[in-house]
Formats: sequence, structure tokens, C-alpha cells
Amino acid sequence: MRLREKVILITGAGSGIGKSTALLFAKEGASVIVNDLDSKSGDETVAEIREANGEAFFIQADVTDAKSVISMVEEAINKYKRIDVLFNNAGISGIGKLHEVDLDAWDKTMNVNINGVMLPSKFVLPYMMEQKKGSIINMSSCIAEMGLANRASYSTTKGAILALTKSMQVDYAEYNIRVNAILPGTILTPFVENYLKQSYENPEEAIEQIKTRQLSGALGKPEDVAFAALFLASDESKFMMGSPLYIDGGVVFGKNA
Ligand code: NAD
Repeated sequence: MRLREKVILITGAGSGIGKSTALLFAKEGASVIVNDLDSKSGDETVAEIREANGEAFFIQADVTDAKSVISMVEEAINKYKRIDVLFNNAGISGIGKLHEVDLDAWDKTMNVNINGVMLPSKFVLPYMMEQKKGSIINMSSCIAEMGLANRASYSTTKGAILALTKSMQVDYAEYNIRVNAILPGTILTPFVENYLKQSYENPEEAIEQIKTRQLSGALGKPEDVAFAALFLASDESKFMMGSPLYIDGGVVFGKNA
């Protein structure tokens, strides 16, 4: 029960890493506010948590839409009176080299992956500042630290999130609010399955190729990232501020032969 009595809002918790984290956080005693754009998957996450006797509540909202985010935060505060942890997890992929990239697709990736972190933070922060306590976890990616082919828009957004995390930390340290980033390697989720289908003729072959760049020799699982988020959400990480946490099977700091 490492998160007993904590109220935690997770964006994009209907699928993949967000869902896995919501299930783990509820098991550790948190009241979990499950957000997603997609109501069906969000409801499923909540149903799974409740089946396991956990506490959860679904709020449909689009993290790129200020009005939608404001009403999500108000609804969460009305229900639980506070938000102790915000996990800005929702995000989408973005593929292509810069000269080929479709401009609408570029804008969409910027909007979801950057504004989708900025807006929930902006509207949750005043409550955390009043509480004089909080932990914000921003989803970046190991791509913020390394060049990978065909990911110009996506890497731009995840680099921006790492920079934003550090700025936020400096501004809100005086309110006892911690802001850290998670940088996963390749984690097998619907997001990656779609990306592989869009980018490679043979996705199975692509998985084998990706495995070779991670020292682990295997892709990560959503639970691997959920355990990292658990540490950042709990008070065990109270001395961790403005930092990147790598969960990447060694892809950033290791090198295969
Ligand atoms: P996923 O596609 O399985 O889940 C993402 C969820 O976000 C979906 O349920 C989707 O409906 C939701 N979402 C998308 N746009 C939204 C919006 N505007 N408002 C609210 N919800 C929205 O993806 P995942 O692999 O679990 O990725 C989660 C996060 O982790 C993303 O930010 C992604 O960039 C990041 N990440 C993933 C990997 C990986 O390999 N899977 C690696 C590094 C970082």
C-alpha cells in the first residue's frame, strides 16, 4: 500500500502504460482518476480496478482542449477534494522524416504530446500549490536523448517535455511540488503495434530489429514503466526533483558491441 490515501489523476489511462499504471496504483491503495479521450477503454480500466476492489473513477476529456481539461480537474476536485499526483501520460506517435512530414500530422503530434501535458499541469497546479504538496510525472521518452530514424515530430515533443519538466520543477519547488519525467525505451503497447504497422512492411521483423538495440534483448512491458511511475508517485522519491528516469532496457546508456 505504497500510495495509501493518495488521489492520482492519470491521463490516457484507457490503454497501454496508462492502464497498467492505473491498475498498479489502485492496488497500492490510491484513488485513481482514470482519464482518456476514449470512454470505452477508460470505462474498462475502471471496471478492472473495481473488480479487484480498488477505487477508481473515469473522466472523459481531451487533454488538448482547455475547457475539457478544466472541467475534468473540477470534477476530480469535487469528487476527491484534492489531487496528490498527476501523471501526464497521454500521447500519440508521429512518424516520418522532416521533409516528408504531413503538416497537419505534425501539428497534431505537437498538440497532443506538448499541450496535452501543459494543460492538465496548468489547471492542477493551483490545487497542488494550495496543498503545498504534489508530484507531477511527465511522460517523455528515451528518444529525447538519442536520434532515431523517422521520428522527427515525436522526438521534438518528447525533448520539449524533458525541458518543460525541468522548468516546472524550478518554478514549483517552493510549493513542495516535485516534477519528474519518465523516459521509456520501446514498450510493447497498442501505440507501438500501430507504429510498427505504419512504418514497416514486416512488423515482426521490426520487433526483432528493435530488440537488438536494447541491451535487455527484449521489448519492455507496460508494467515495467508502471513500477517506475509508482516510485515517482510515492513519497519514496521525495529527493527526486526535475529528473529523467530511464526505463529503457539500456538503450540510452548501453551499446551492443
Ligand atoms: P497507447 O496508445 O496504448 O495509450 C495512449 C492513450 O492515450 C490511449 O488510450 C489514447 O486514447 C489516449 N489519448 C490519446 N490522445 C488523447 C487525448 N487527446 N486526450 C486524452 N487521452 C488521449 O500508448 P502507450 O504506449 O501506452 O503510450 C503512453 C505514453 O507513453 C505516450 O505519451 C507515449 O508517447 C509514451 N511512450 C511510449 C513508449 C512505448 O514504447 N510504448 C515509449 C516511450 C514513451
